[in-house]
Amino acid sequence: MSTYVFGHTSPDSDSIVGAISLSYLKNQLGEDCIPTRQGEISAETQFILDKFDGTLPELKTSVAGEDVYIIDFSDKAQAPHDIMEATILGIVDHHKLGDLTTSTPLECWIRPIGCSNTVVYEMYKAYDVEIPKDIAGMMMCAILSDTVIFKSPTCTKVDTKAVKELSKICGVEDYKQVAMDMFIAKSQVDGASARNLNTRDYKAFEMNGNKVGINQLEMVDISVLDSRIDEIMTDMKAMKEEEGLHTIIVLLTDIMKEGSTLLTVSDDESKIETAFNCKLENSQVWLDGVLSRKKQIIPFLQPQF
Ligand code: MG
Ligand code: MG
Ligand code: MG
Repeated sequence: MSTYVFGHTSPDSDSIVGAISLSYLKNQLGEDCIPTRQGEISAETQFILDKFDGTLPELKTSVAGEDVYIIDFSDKAQAPHDIMEATILGIVDHHKLGDLTTSTPLECWIRPIGCSNTVVYEMYKAYDVEIPKDIAGMMMCAILSDTVIFKSPTCTKVDTKAVKELSKICGVEDYKQVAMDMFIAKSQVDGASARNLNTRDYKAFEMNGNKVGINQLEMVDISVLDSRIDEIMTDMKAMKEEEGLHTIIVLLTDIMKEGSTLLTVSDDESKIETAFNCKLENSQVWLDGVLSRKKQIIPFLQPQF
């Protein structure tokens, strides 16, 4: 029986590349693993697959009765709907511990570092398995993406060291240029619907019985969305209704200006104002220096519930 390896819903590059890199490692260790994904990939991930000859993992949204490894999440809200009917053999992650539980012992590699692929890189070293050139290139890009080219407060020395070593393996000397090209691909918004934008990097969280949805758009220049804010907010209102959310937040993160415009539709905006010590104007605010959802948004928002 094959084991399926996948990341979170609305998969980002770390989730897709992580499914590939972890599956390859497990296969070398004698397990039969297949990388899968829970949704459509982003332009950024397509850029990475194209650049390093990666194969798109197959779409799999139901896992009842299967053995699985999960990577880049441990929240039930980001898992397939029937995850509790699967056997979770292991978790590889770099987020807060979520609410998934298991009935059997499992392997856990969870570290407070910049990227799940950095954790996978450490696993390759621990098991003394050689990383193929193409997989090294994809892992390098995933780490550069998650750490916003080392600017994110989630980035650690372990991540920068991993990128440098992976760049040698894949033969890409100027990894910062590759990263910029990757973020330019990610910033492409022409012709994208508001719903497409609002779900590009969308994650749902359970906060003391309230559902909170947070999407993040990381771009080289967020001003290209200035004329579309009303449209984005209208769609956020619709999403809030559809998903039964208490609060929906969209972060427009400018990786060059190093900060985010927070947009929200909430049953209680004061929770956001208290969390981030700010004043919302038309349900929006610029948060200087905020680049990381997991480190600069969730930990401040959660206590408000
Ligand atoms: Mg992720
Ligand atoms: Mg990640
Ligand atoms: Mg991210």
